[in-house]
Amino acid sequence: MAKDTPRFETLSVQSGHSPDPTTFSRGVPIYRTSSFTFKSAEHAANLFSLKEFGNIYSRLGNPTNEILETRVSQLEGGAASVSVASGTAAIFNTVITIAKAGDEIVSASNLYGGTYTMFDAILSDLGITTRFADVLDPPSFERAITPKTRLLFIESIGNPVLDLADIEAISRIAKKHALPLVVDATFTTPYLMRTIELGADIVINSLTKWLGGHGTAIGGIATDAGNFDWSDPKFELFNRPDPSYHGLRWAIDLSPELRRIAFALRFRTVPLRNLGACLAPDNAWFFLQGIETLHLRMPRHSQNALAVASFLKKHPKVEWVRYPGLEGDPSFGLARRLLPRGAGGMVVFGVRGGKQAGEKFIESLRLFSHLANVGDAKSLAIHPASTTHSQLSEEQVKASGLTPDLVRLSIGIENIEDITADLESALAGV
Ligand SMILES: *Cc1c(COP(=O)(O)O)cnc(C)c1O
Repeated sequence: MAKDTPRFETLSVQSGHSPDPTTFSRGVPIYRTSSFTFKSAEHAANLFSLKEFGNIYSRLGNPTNEILETRVSQLEGGAASVSVASGTAAIFNTVITIAKAGDEIVSASNLYGGTYTMFDAILSDLGITTRFADVLDPPSFERAITPKTRLLFIESIGNPVLDLADIEAISRIAKKHALPLVVDATFTTPYLMRTIELGADIVINSLTKWLGGHGTAIGGIATDAGNFDWSDPKFELFNRPDPSYHGLRWAIDLSPELRRIAFALRFRTVPLRNLGACLAPDNAWFFLQGIETLHLRMPRHSQNALAVASFLKKHPKVEWVRYPGLEGDPSFGLARRLLPRGAGGMVVFGVRGGKQAGEKFIESLRLFSHLANVGDAKSLAIHPASTTHSQLSEEQVKASGLTPDLVRLSIGIENIEDITADLESALAGV
């Protein structure tokens, strides 16, 4: 970063907004409107043909959302971002911006549950096939690539056991095959991981989690690094006249400057405009509030999580612990390289006594909330085998890598002694 470019902490608080010129409001205004007036017929026509950028209708874009998009782009070091109604919508719209029926994608198999279902069961019904690779074996991504592959997908830290992806190795494979690497960086955020510098072409964040940081709203965002060349004819959606947008060829007809962000433009003007998973400006405002303190919260989440992992590792009622920042963890070496500022807020572990002990443990917690979310300032816990994965057979649970004793913790920013005291008393009860 050049020395006159504001640094991360400053961007978190200030970027994308200066006091409003009509009201001088210092806080970001919530533009709670569905639509925006045109200055003239020519202005309207220019907006629709992308000759000029501006506000049309809040399904396509809204000034409050735009501040959020600018801020996340700057924090990620990307060129353009598009915010949507959820992290899930960011992933789905990313895939269908690039791939269509008959195409394939290659994805790590250690995914957030909803994403796994989308890739495995829903995209397949839409004619897009997912070939799953093993994140611990980067060459397995290369073996899964065929002439039909259109993108590679990984999570920076995956489920269920928090294995860290070797993003640099997987990025080299993506570059060799001229494929974009999409990274869901929800668990690491732009504060902990320089996802684009490490090789991502598109970064996804579920805003619902640490960026928002307070468990108050659902949202997602996709950031285009602005480096990917879509002119290879295999990217048919970027090279044929697009029937969804006046016959425009995204990789050919745009100016070189706009061609750089062809992904973000097509994402906004094709799936977001026509399928409609837009983010409410009120929610964009909540996420902006959260992002202002991201650089204060992430070090605390990481410190607390490391302390919890160390505490659990020594506990006689604990069978095993996984935390990428814990010395001896299989991901520890990668974490030192990829996550120099901390390894995030997630810890998973096994309680001695299996599924029943896991349930009992969760029920005995007082400070931790028992719920299905992560990335809140408050500490959260869930026992997947008796909740999110309870419909699965013992065999299916095993195949997903989830063990019946696994407890998932999202460590908050409370006082660490209060957190460990709660864990200690809950463990005493099992
Ligand atoms: C929560 C989450 C999602 C989905 O985001 P929503 O905002 O809940 O739709 C995707 N990926 C990861 C890693 C998540 O934690």
